[in-house]
Amino acid sequence: MNILEKALKMLEKYPLCDHCLGRQFALLGHGMENDERGNAIKTVLTLEAHTLALSKNKGGIKILKILATNGFSKTAEEILHGMKKRIPSRRLAKTCFLCEDEFKVVDGLAERALEKLKDYEFSNFLVGIELPVTVEEREDEFKAEFEVSYGENMRNEFGRTIGKKIAEHSGKNVEYKKPEVVVLVNPPAGKVKLQVNPLYVAGRYRKLVRGIPQSKWLCSNCRGKGCEKCNWTGKMYPESVEEIIGKPFLDGTGGVKASFHASGREDIDARMLGKGRPFVMEITQPNKRFLNLKKLEKTVNAHAKGKVEVSDLWFADKNVVRKLKKAESAQKEYRVTIEFENKITVKDLRLLEEKLTNTVVKQRTPIRVLHRRANLTREKYIYEVRIKKLSPKKAEMKTRCQGGLYVKELVTGDEGRTTPNVSEILKNKAKPITLDVLNVIMKD
Ligand SMILES: [Zn+2]
Ligand SMILES: [Zn+2]
Repeated sequence: MNILEKALKMLEKYPLCDHCLGRQFALLGHGMENDERGNAIKTVLTLEAHTLALSKNKGGIKILKILATNGFSKTAEEILHGMKKRIPSRRLAKTCFLCEDEFKVVDGLAERALEKLKDYEFSNFLVGIELPVTVEEREDEFKAEFEVSYGENMRNEFGRTIGKKIAEHSGKNVEYKKPEVVVLVNPPAGKVKLQVNPLYVAGRYRKLVRGIPQSKWLCSNCRGKGCEKCNWTGKMYPESVEEIIGKPFLDGTGGVKASFHASGREDIDARMLGKGRPFVMEITQPNKRFLNLKKLEKTVNAHAKGKVEVSDLWFADKNVVRKLKKAESAQKEYRVTIEFENKITVKDLRLLEEKLTNTVVKQRTPIRVLHRRANLTREKYIYEVRIKKLSPKKAEMKTRCQGGLYVKELVTGDEGRTTPNVSEILKNKAKPITLDVLNVIMKD
């Protein structure tokens, strides 16, 4: 069956708009839209039917009537009118069997999307179409009935036509893999929604003072609601690295939430020095995403007032967050000052270096974090330990090890839960005084 015969068979049975007729032949011909295809097919059918009608062939009138009613063809209607063939007006008032005339409102939907998009900075987008199952099933059955093999589905056509309009008017591109904004359109319901994807900015932070937790720490008494104990803040500590960095990010982007992801964490009483720890700030629903990162870096550092410092900001994506989490066990360098119960000798320190360098440490979850971490035994590798004597009972130990090693427990032994450990090797009770993270070794 050729295209015209097949199209006529479809129209004989169902009213079809130009889009829905043309869509059944969408893979034939390039550089034209389905409504042009549908219209072209209807035009040729009309001309042929007119020829038949003029040669007194009854079939011609019949086809013209089909085109005027199920084909919505004004030309066919006018030809019939000129031949004094009347069609009852109720037979003309039809809606497209497949789309229920929804393609007529596509422009309006695109305009509403553009209106909503005005509130956001974006450089690319994607249109997502929601259709009722009944509509899709109806088209599937239709395709099966007429053995459509060069067709496209309605969802695609809606997405493409609305996407084209938005692209034309906004000057932005359609992006399939990682769109910044997804325009969700439900044509039958007349709904247009935006899903604004998060903005990710990566960098490194240094924590220059002790006593600030990495992330917001909820009050253990009220769990964040606010109580007398936490002075109605809902928090254990007034500020955190997360909040100090997050505020300027939120202000600068107009986002609704800033989520902080970091590669591991340091204790509240440990500083984070050296090049800093890699982090990613995830901004939910940002209005602005064309940020000047150099300027943002300055703003953050001014706001953080020497407590925290960020550097090397760059635009990242979700994958970087995943990589950060994976890299938690990347190598870290720590510096801990240790106080011993009894005097130490240089020989003691050499013994420690020897016993702890290139060693696997077995660590049960420290007692101090047992309330929030599973009780497991972890094995962490120490690459290198260097120790310097500071005074008769004090030393400074630098350790390069696998991330996630609990350094304080490596010093104390944590009641035998960490082995080997400094106290046990020297049979001299040791305790950590200060701890700094000197380096997080990771490829950016
Ligand atoms: Zn239609
Ligand atoms: Zn509280």
